[in-house]
Amino acid sequence: MSLRILITGGAGFLGSHLSDRLLADGHEVICMDNLFTGRKVNIGHLFKNPKFEFIRHDVVDPFKVEVDQIYNLACPASPPHYQYNAIKTIKTSVMGTINCLGLAKRLNARVFQASTSEVYGDPEVHPQTEDYWGHVNPIGIRSCYDEGKRCAETLCFDYHRQNGVDIRIVRIFNTYGPRMHPNDGRVVSNFIVQALKGEDITVYGDGTQTRSFCYVSDLIEGFVRLMNQDETTGPINIGNPGEFTMLELAENIIELTGTSSKIIHEDLPLDDPRQRKPDITLAKKHLDDWSPEIPLREGLQKTIDHFSEALGLSSKIGF
Ligand code: NAD
Ligand code: UDP
Repeated sequence: MSLRILITGGAGFLGSHLSDRLLADGHEVICMDNLFTGRKVNIGHLFKNPKFEFIRHDVVDPFKVEVDQIYNLACPASPPHYQYNAIKTIKTSVMGTINCLGLAKRLNARVFQASTSEVYGDPEVHPQTEDYWGHVNPIGIRSCYDEGKRCAETLCFDYHRQNGVDIRIVRIFNTYGPRMHPNDGRVVSNFIVQALKGEDITVYGDGTQTRSFCYVSDLIEGFVRLMNQDETTGPINIGNPGEFTMLELAENIIELTGTSSKIIHEDLPLDDPRQRKPDITLAKKHLDDWSPEIPLREGLQKTIDHFSEALGLSSKIGF
């Protein structure tokens, strides 16, 4: 069945891939974005598609559209971007989510909330399971994002309990791939761009902190399965359980690009989580045995190829 679907934050990294997928599945997509971190170039190829519509709008301000489903992705995701205007970030999470839930209530539409592994903060449980309540600093420099996303989850459940709004919540673990903003500040894009330009690779702290990196196509498959099943509202972790230190990530990128870049160490940002790895038991159970298919090096190679083309650089510095 063809649905009309709103994606807030649809011009961003994940939103643009989700737009591609939903259009390919035969749906109509309304992409709403204020282009804070999103870019028209991410969705430029979709403008000629009659089933695609772009609305430049800030989700903090109320909106009305007639849709069957809402994917709420609007929110800057990289620490430098979400810390740039912390008050705006928390407003986006809280008021944007209220606006989506209010619209969903009126339309009887299903809402998908893009939450995050940041709700676990600097986790004391490893790997992280959905029943872990987290270890989050409520007054630190990451709090605008972490607490904004935690509050958004609360709002989803309150609208669900109080008004019967149909919700699905995903907790996304670090995801990477083509269309990340080259100056986004996240680790995968930073390291790849630095390697391709032959610049120093900036490892923050001693580089022993860990993350688990999911390639974007695996994540989007998980999104669509979660949105279209009726067993659970979530929250459900979606991510790749492969766990790497930042030094290992840097070494992989150095090897794949053949760069002569050297690793340098810079100060570790405040409240930087020590370790992160999703437990994906629930995703496997409820999402038709979902699990990621693209291993780190394969995903990194695709991302390196994308950045080298987008930046007009060679993907093999040594050749
Ligand atoms: P992104 O920065 O590329 O995309 C966010 C999009 O939201 C951008 O297009 C931006 O312009 C838009 N936006 C921001 N504030 C807005 C506002 N007030 N009104 C309208 N649009 C607004 O980041 P992304 O990686 O694509 O992240 C998408 C969602 O997924 C975010 O909610 C993020 O918190 C969540 N998430 C992403 C990751 C990841 O690893 N990529 C991890 C956890 C959670
Ligand atoms: N990081 C790094 N160098 C960079 C950017 C990030 O070493 O140039 C580290 C950062 O301190 C963190 C990890 O990489 O430990 C992941 O950072 P990112 O901002 O991508 O995501 P998040 O911290 O939100 O998981």
